[in-house]
Amino acid sequence: MDFADRTLTCRDCNQPFIWTAGEQQFYREKGLVNVPARCTDCRAARKARLGLHERPQTEVICAECGETTTVPFVPRNGNPVYCSRCFDQIRTQGHDPGQTQVGGQVSLLEL
Ligand SMILES: [Zn+2]
Ligand SMILES: [Zn+2]
Repeated sequence: MDFADRTLTCRDCNQPFIWTAGEQQFYREKGLVNVPARCTDCRAARKARLGLHERPQTEVICAECGETTTVPFVPRNGNPVYCSRCFDQIRTQGHDPGQTQVGGQVSLLEL
């Protein structure tokens, strides 16, 4: 059976995209029955999103140097937040011995 290019509409961006004959054949060979719901761009973007853990980037003021920085979590009220540079300094200098035993990422999240 010959395949012909088909025009589908992307579920994410609502733009028409070409489902090529080659791709249709690939789907057929893989036994896939669904037609693709997204254009290749959106599929790649979706894959990238699923691959990375979604983390909120929150703009905060470093409690040490006062510079604006972003952190990959939402700080809880009252907890000091440091930029990565100050955080490294604090960790290596051991300002707070109680906290230095914790791994960097974990204590960064818990600060
Ligand atoms: Zn799309
Ligand atoms: Zn700082």
